[in-house]
Amino acid sequence: MSEDLDALDAETFRQRWRSWLAENYPPEWRIPIIHRISGDDERRWHRMTYEAGWRAPAWPKEHGGLGLSLEKQLIMHHEMELHQCARVLDSGALLLAPALMHYGTREQQERYLPAILRGDDLWCQGYSEPNAGSDLASLRTTAVRAGGDWVINGQKIWTTLAKEADRIFVLARTNKDVKKQAGISFLLADMDTLGLTVRPIMNLAGEDELCEIFFDNVRIPAGNIVGEVDQGWTVAKALLGDERIANGAPSLSRQSFDVLEQLIDGVGLADDLGQTDRAAQLFCDVQDLAALHSQVADAAIRGEVDNAALSLMKVLATDVFQRISDELFTVASEAAGLHDAAGVGGVELDLRKIYMIARPSTIYAGANEVQRNIVATMLMGKPSS
Ligand SMILES: Cc1cc2nc3c(=O)[nH]c(=O)nc-3n(C[C@H](O)[C@H](O)[C@H](O)COP(=O)(O)OP(=O)(O)OC[C@H]3O[C@@H](n4cnc5c(N)ncnc54)[C@H](O)[C@@H]3O)c2cc1C
Repeated sequence: MSEDLDALDAETFRQRWRSWLAENYPPEWRIPIIHRISGDDERRWHRMTYEAGWRAPAWPKEHGGLGLSLEKQLIMHHEMELHQCARVLDSGALLLAPALMHYGTREQQERYLPAILRGDDLWCQGYSEPNAGSDLASLRTTAVRAGGDWVINGQKIWTTLAKEADRIFVLARTNKDVKKQAGISFLLADMDTLGLTVRPIMNLAGEDELCEIFFDNVRIPAGNIVGEVDQGWTVAKALLGDERIANGAPSLSRQSFDVLEQLIDGVGLADDLGQTDRAAQLFCDVQDLAALHSQVADAAIRGEVDNAALSLMKVLATDVFQRISDELFTVASEAAGLHDAAGVGGVELDLRKIYMIARPSTIYAGANEVQRNIVATMLMGKPSS
């Protein structure tokens, strides 16, 4: 598409994207909330949008993105929500790419960004370790210089979709003699490098998206470092901010609220005042979240990153989503215990899957308890002892 999408007025733009989705979005992927496209399906989705000129709405044009205004990016998200599209992780475009654009060398940008755009490379995020989650700076995976290489040893855990990824961005300790945040570097590795092993972890819903990764003398070229040696914490923190903007989006809350409304109607509780009162409260919370999300994302695009607001938004978004999924359980009553998709009041539901998506949302991208601590300290200072 050679046309400048940003020059279109919002309504024309919306219609254009809506019709493209209607004509091209694979119907088998239209399973909102519980389905996530991954692996070859994810590669196919990126390639389709790339070839049709819809890929990377937030990336600047100089890097091959669409350079769209926030208004148009939100239109795209909203239309996908209305079209009942599946979730996509897209860690390469959403998390790594902004870090590469800011801290990467021109060579790294030229090597990695086009492959992300075309859907050739899927990336995963190698931050957390068995004893370094909330306290990420305690990580113990090491990278040591040996001639023209870095040699990585250690273990990562909870790496989403690692078994489907082509490459990984890894935080590793490169200096043990300084304050813990000051001795970490941000490295890039191919998943098929000798010594790198992925072991999927099965969850209660029977899915194995989360993985452990073992690094046993994994050698990567010395140039696979983003930013300066020992300065990876700065890159990692910027990237966590982007992750919180994505995880603060209202989509899952809005979509699960739609299911809740249908279910309340379906089981004949639409006239129950207690029920409608709780639903009205949740509806207001979803609206508040959507308003906060567009304000915070708008400010972030202007370069005004308010870390307290980012953290609060992640807390609010995941908390609302979890409360809606809990309410779905209450309304579905005994059907909530069923293991497969079940028809409840005429609504086809797999509540176990919705639950398994809502539960961990308060843990990933920075556990909510820790985010609350961070915000409290930012706004009120450290408690006096
Ligand atoms: C679905 C899912 C996907 C994930 N994907 C990835 C990924 O792709 N890549 C990656 O690197 N990581 C990933 N993670 C890991 C995630 O970032 C960590 O789980 C998270 O940072 C929490 O760390 P932890 O699991 O070690 O828990 P801990 O840090 O041990 O925390 C356990 C509990 O203690 C609380 N707690 C900890 N410290 C404090 C404190 N100071 N004050 C108050 N409460 C505290 C926490 O809030 C939490 O409730 C994923 C996690 C999940 C659940």
